[in-house]
Amino acid sequence: MSCFNDVEFLANKANLEFIDHSFHTMPDSSDLSLERKECSKCGAVWLNGQLYWATGVKAKELDLAGLVCNQTDSEECINSKKGQKGGDTWEKRLMFLNNLDKIMEQRGTPMWDAGIYTDEN
Ligand SMILES: [Zn+2]
Repeated sequence: MSCFNDVEFLANKANLEFIDHSFHTMPDSSDLSLERKECSKCGAVWLNGQLYWATGVKAKELDLAGLVCNQTDSEECINSKKGQKGGDTWEKRLMFLNNLDKIMEQRGTPMWDAGIYTDEN
């Protein structure tokens, strides 16, 4: 499963239990020793170096840059990929949405929540 390929995350048994129950969402960090960083500008959260969207879905810095950080271009933004191009953009999102009907026809189920768009290159 490509979504959980960071070894440290998988090595933690608590996290494995968490994965079983709640696929692809952010762990509650209250009783786990996770390093947590939050961007005060866009609200993005890094847990042990993994970026998550505010919705709790795993994300990539470059996509965050294209969708949020490059738009706001704020000094306060802590995204290391801010200003870089090549990630997800609203134009790409729009193209994806326009093609969503076709994709759903092919796959049978909506795949939006499974993160196929943000996790695959
Ligand atoms: Zn930011």
